[in-house]
Amino acid sequence: QRPKILMATVKGDVHDIGKNIVGVVLKCNHFDVVDLGVMVPMEKILDTALKEKVDVIGLSGLITPSLEEMRLVAAEMERRGLDLPLMIGGATTSPVHTALRIEPNYSKGVFWVKDASRAVGVASKLCNPEQRAELAKEYARDYAALRDRRAQGSRRQPPVSLQTARDNKFQTDWAIHQTPAPAQPGVTVFEDYPIADLVEYIDWTPFFQTWEMSGRYPDILNDPQKGMVARNLFADAQAMLVKIIEERWLSARATVGLLPASADGDDVLVYADEGRSTLAERLSFLRQQKPKATGQPNLCLADFIAPVDSGTPDHIGLFAVTAGLGIEAKLEEFEAQHDDYSSILLKALADRLAEALAERMHEQVRREIWGFAAGEQLDKQELLKETYRGIRPAPGYPACPDHSEKKKLFRLLDAETNSRMELTEGYAMLPAAAVCGYYFAHPQSRYFVLGNIQEEQLVEYAARKGIDLDEARRNLVANLDQ
Ligand code: SAH
Repeated sequence: QRPKILMATVKGDVHDIGKNIVGVVLKCNHFDVVDLGVMVPMEKILDTALKEKVDVIGLSGLITPSLEEMRLVAAEMERRGLDLPLMIGGATTSPVHTALRIEPNYSKGVFWVKDASRAVGVASKLCNPEQRAELAKEYARDYAALRDRRAQGSRRQPPVSLQTARDNKFQTDWAIHQTPAPAQPGVTVFEDYPIADLVEYIDWTPFFQTWEMSGRYPDILNDPQKGMVARNLFADAQAMLVKIIEERWLSARATVGLLPASADGDDVLVYADEGRSTLAERLSFLRQQKPKATGQPNLCLADFIAPVDSGTPDHIGLFAVTAGLGIEAKLEEFEAQHDDYSSILLKALADRLAEALAERMHEQVRREIWGFAAGEQLDKQELLKETYRGIRPAPGYPACPDHSEKKKLFRLLDAETNSRMELTEGYAMLPAAAVCGYYFAHPQSRYFVLGNIQEEQLVEYAARKGIDLDEARRNLVANLDQ
């Protein structure tokens, strides 16, 4: 009898490319795969696991709120007295987080796997009682070591106090530095952005990473080991891109907003009108609390916007773009034909096109819609290296790790109507091939990693946002573990 594994992307999350690749590899290795798809509630996962008598449960997730959901599933497995190994995978999962938050909740074995190539080895062992016990011992030892190291690590480098961090904020002389007002203020919508115009903006290196092939494009095409596989994959991608465009498999929409804004401490106030009489939204950001060398600021994104009391009127940009509209029809076709490869390829290309649209919009904002870099001349290489003035940080990424701020961004842009995008309860975006974020025009604005923050800031942040502390903690769990 073939070993059986249940796979699911947890509740609130919509990303499944990695999970589907694991599924294909497992099927090739003679596993029966029960794939429950995306946004799967834990009751469904556990009930199906029992009904189908699977040997292993595999959970996947891309965004940080999924980490919390995985913890809940593990706790529920313990409560129900299940005796099935739990496999954990996906982009935001990590051995450290698994050791700190998931494994302590479930006593029958939690197995973090890095990628599809490891998944087969681990899953195979988990289907054999002796090997499972052996592997469980190895993992338990590693998790304990990670927890020990973490406990020592946090004693070595304590964060600075919130006040110290704020006193060491990034300083700007706002009398000298003034970002020009946007050429086209307010919200601008691009309905049905031509996909053909996005192809030259595609960053292909992450495309190969999606398929677990490391290496830079275009060098990877000529790599002595991976070259042939990479060339085949790339040719398939090109052929599908032609069909996507000619047969209109996908459509893209973009909404950008350039709105009057002022920093208020670590928040950014966004006004409804250029007269700044009505407050439309308060965006909340977090400040680094790691000890810094002299001259290095403790950064917060709000530092890049002129404060209310500076007397300098400033703006913030927002964007929400998708290239995944209409993808379901084709995916259903591929599914009916059991064509996993085409289904994964289309999702991967839609993701690439969404990122390409984000890059293209950012360029259009700098050169025309805002216009602070009207004369910018960059070739595509430089563009993809983001060497231009300004940044477009995305909620959920290291400078602004709180995914729940997307809700405000969506409201300000009316992204549901203008971009036809939605947020799930875990703040994942639908269609999955979508990007949203902020534009900062400040010439010295840059990406950074928030890192660990102290309880003090968490409490204050929750109060500023008007949410309870537990919710704030859930939103930032991955940072608090650092
Ligand atoms: N060319 C890449 C672009 C995506 S990765 C691609 O096609 O995949 C780079 C993007 O991630 C940035 O433009 C920004 O939106 C986000 N990002 C990277 N580092 C970040 C950080 N520290 N904080 C917030 N956002 C970040």
